[in-house]
Order: sequence, then C-alpha cells, then structure tokens
Amino acid sequence: MNHDFDLFVIGAGSGGVRAARFAAGFGAKVAVAESRYLGGTCVNVGCVPKKLLVYGAHFADDFDQAEGFGWTGPTAQFDWATLIANKNREIERLNGVYRKLLVNSGVTLLEGHARLTDAHHVEINGQRLSAERILIATGGWPQLPDIPGREHAITSNEAFFLEQLPRRVLVVGGGYIAVEFAGIFNGLGADTRLLYRGDLFLRGFDQSVRTHLAEELTRRGLRLDFNADIARIDKQPDGSLLAILKDGRQLEADSIFYATGRRPMLDNLGLENTRVELNEAGYIAVNEHFETREPSILALGDVIGGVQLTPVATAEGMAVARRLFRPEQYRPVDYRHIPTAVFSQPNIGTVGLTEQQALEQGHKVAVFESRFRPMKLTLTESPEQTLMKLVVDAESDRVLGAHMVGPDAGEIIQGLAIALKAGATKRLFDETIGVHPTSAEEFVTLRTPVSGR
Ligand code: FAD
Ligand code: NDP
Repeated sequence: MNHDFDLFVIGAGSGGVRAARFAAGFGAKVAVAESRYLGGTCVNVGCVPKKLLVYGAHFADDFDQAEGFGWTGPTAQFDWATLIANKNREIERLNGVYRKLLVNSGVTLLEGHARLTDAHHVEINGQRLSAERILIATGGWPQLPDIPGREHAITSNEAFFLEQLPRRVLVVGGGYIAVEFAGIFNGLGADTRLLYRGDLFLRGFDQSVRTHLAEELTRRGLRLDFNADIARIDKQPDGSLLAILKDGRQLEADSIFYATGRRPMLDNLGLENTRVELNEAGYIAVNEHFETREPSILALGDVIGGVQLTPVATAEGMAVARRLFRPEQYRPVDYRHIPTAVFSQPNIGTVGLTEQQALEQGHKVAVFESRFRPMKLTLTESPEQTLMKLVVDAESDRVLGAHMVGPDAGEIIQGLAIALKAGATKRLFDETIGVHPTSAEEFVTLRTPVSGR
C-alpha cells in the first residue's frame, strides 16, 4: 500500500526530532507534527531555560564570594524582566535552529495538533495523511493534586514566563523540578520555602546526597519543610495566596509553585481509534522496540514513562530510526549507568547504584565518602562542603555508583559515567592520576572505606 509517509512523528521534542532527522537521513520519507513549540519541553520549558535561570541565580554566589578575592564594587542589582527577555530571545533562536535542522534533513514539518484516526492515519490542520509507521513522541505535562484552589498555583510551564519575580514563594514537591526551582527562586532573592510530603526530598537518590543537600540548602536560607503538604489554597483580597496545610498551618505567599510530577501528554490524540494501550501508570505501553500494541504505531520518550530525561529520549529516537531504516546500525538503548544531575545549588551529579540499591541487589558493599570545603571557597565566608561518594562491590572491586554534591557535579559526573559503563574497578580509580588542584581529583584519591557491609 502506498502511504504519504514512511514515518509520521507526532511531537517535535527531544525524542521526536532525533527520530525524524535520522530517519530522513537514512532515506525515509518523514513528517513531523508539532502543536506548540519546536524542540519540545526541554528547549522551551525544561532543561535549557531552567539552566539559564540556574546560571542567573548562581551570580548571587559569585558576587558574594568575589569579596574574598579582593573585588568590591557597588551592590549588584537583579532584574527579572531582563533575564526572562534574554532567555526568551535565546529560546527563539533555538526554535529556529530546530526548524532548520528538520527542514534541512528533508523532514516535512507540519505545525498543528495531530490526531490519530486509525492505525495508519493522522489528522492535522484539516488534512488526513497516511503513514506506514507512526511514532508518538508527545512528551508530558505537569500534574497537580486535585486540591481546592489549585487554579491559583503555577507550574514550571508558567514560571518561565512570570512578569515579576515573586517576593514569597512556596514550592511544592521533592523531585528534580521542585529542588531546582527552589534554588532558582532562593538564589534570585525570593523568600522561598519548599514543602515536601515525605521525610526527606529526592526519593531514589543516595541517602548521603539527600541529607547533604538538605543541609547545604538550609545553610543558604532555603526553608525546607518536610512532612508538609497543602490541603487548600485561598486567594486573598490583596491578591496574595494563603496555603492551608494538612497539619493546619497557614502560609502566605505571592506564588505557589507545584512540581508534583508529570503525566503523559495524550490529550485529544485519538488513541481510542487504535489498539494502542496504556500501562498501569497511564503511560503508553511499549515493548523493547518501542512498539505499541498496534503494530504500525511506536512511542518513545516521556510519554512511555521510563527515565524522563532528554538524552534518554534522544537515544530512544536514534534507536527507533536505526531499527526501522538502518537495521545494520541498530543497537538497543542501554538503560544502565544513566548519569544525571540535579541543578540545585550546589549541584548533584550521580551515576550508577545508590548504596541502598547496591545492598538491595545483594552486593557486599564498600563505601568511600569524603566531605571537604572546595578550594574556591577557602577565601570566602561560605562554609559550604562538597560531598563525594563511591559505592564499590567489595568482592569484585567494581565501582557500582558515584555520587557528588558540589559545584560542577553535573560536569564531573559525565566522565565518571564512562568509567562506570566500562566496568572500572576501584583499583583503576586509585591508579588514575588526579588533576590538581581540582575537586574532581577527590574521586581518585578516596582511600579508606567509611563502611563495609
Ligand atoms: P517533549 O520534549 O515533551 O516533546 C513533546 C512534543 O510533542 C512537545 O513539543 C509537544 O508540544 C508536542 N505534542 C504533544 N502532543 C501533540 C500533538 N497531539 N500533536 C502535535 N504535537 C504534540 N531533562 C534532562 O535531561 N535534563 C534537564 O536538565 C531537564 N530539565 C527539565 C526541566 C523541566 C522544568 C522539565 C519539565 C523537564 C526537564 N527535563 C530535563 C526532562 C526533559 O525535558 C524531557 O525528558 C524531554 O523533553 C522528553 O522529550 P520527549 O521527546 O519525550 O517530549
Ligand atoms: P519527580 O517525579 O522527580 O518528583 C515529583 C515530586 O512530587 C516527588 O517528590 C513526589 O513525592 C511529589 N509528589 C507527587 N505527587 C504528589 C502529590 N499528590 N502531593 C504532593 N507531592 C507529590 O517529578 P518532577 O515534576 O520534579 O520532574 C519530572 C521529571 O522531569 C523528573 O523525574 C526528571 O526525570 C525530569 N527532570 C529532569 C531534570 C534534570 O535532569 N536535571 C530537571 C527537571 C526534571 P514522592 O517522592 O513522595 O512520590
């Protein structure tokens, strides 16, 4: 049967763009539909603008610390509107880059909402187009608990476009987004409090990392309120918000920012016209080849609810393009040793198993841990400490996990991820010559285990 396209991709985000570009490069006839913004969540309301705001917030530290190195000057002033305008300009530039990338690789770009009408057809802008295969890469969307007054809350989607920096902010959640945005608001000078429903935020991260970051953030004036959750939000006559907590406390704020997870974006996608099924968590169910229960329809990225990170979505996009159109180059995505960073201040960088996971998997574990004051801070008033931790299998000597909280942890962990993927032993770490003087060298000079279990 003759179709309009070999591959129709729904969603020009991290995963969709990668799959579309490479499939077209391999000679396939490809269309990509995008309803909102080229580059998807990461480029528009995710990784990229977030990192720009993190850089913006970090200048507060730089100005503080500069005095210790002899710099004085007029007190620096911060202007939110300038940061947001400059950020918007950069994102527009990136939207253009994505447009060029797609068009130059021969992909047909269709701007509008795409809806499946059957296993091989998509409706967009009043047109009905057919494709041999359809790839759903529609990403995710913020999810808020259903509490009275939630319409007064904002999410990351809105935070990137606020007209003013709120004076008092409540951040709800204890995952990546909550921790990163609490750091942004706090660093830029807002009176910030993070509310998390559990005992300690960042569930799933190594325990040492979680406690260390909690101490460091508290030292920076960020109020961490664990075992706390909002029952209701009221808007007050002066426009400010009143959060009534489940424990009865009342907190006033100018903005309440929710980061309580994300749901798959399936709105008006027409899945009911196909045999595509959802898994128990509500994400699109796929097999190891990203195939749904409808043989002609595939799905990848955040919408399948695996590891929700841009490099994972792009790796999945690459795998799909190769498997379909260049099978001799196909390699399955390796989900082990995915490094990740939380761009809090200080950063978290982590790869491999946490101590807890290693124990649960039956390893006899040796733990190497170091806390120290980074050299750059020695001439400053800052008491901030860096944490580095290696989790080692005591029997094979293989390094199972590397964890860090400190400046540039996100940059440092990338290199260690290669070592872990290559199966490096602790002895190999020990035999590696350090780069001096750096913080990173501490990872190759950790000598005495703090515990052996
Ligand atoms: P997306 O990038 O979400 O793309 C989906 C696209 O599909 C969107 O453009 C959407 O408009 C479009 N779409 C949806 N439905 C339709 C339809 N019916 N028709 C047409 N188009 C449609 N990851 C990192 O690795 N590092 C980070 O630092 C990081 N920071 C983040 C910060 C925030 C605030 C958020 C929210 C996420 C962050 N992430 C980060 C996660 C990362 O953004 C996602 O994992 C990644 O974008 C997923 O890519 P995707 O292709 O699955 O979906
Ligand atoms: P996460 O899943 O990381 O965290 C959600 C948080 O909200 C958890 O602390 C969770 O608590 C809490 N929560 C969930 N439901 C409720 C509720 N009903 N009431 C109160 N609290 C609730 O989601 P995020 O939204 O922070 O981020 C989404 C994903 O985006 C991340 O998992 C990550 O994959 C990606 N991302 C990556 C970044 C990076 O690489 N630097 C940055 C930002 C996002 P509990 O733990 O108790 O379940």
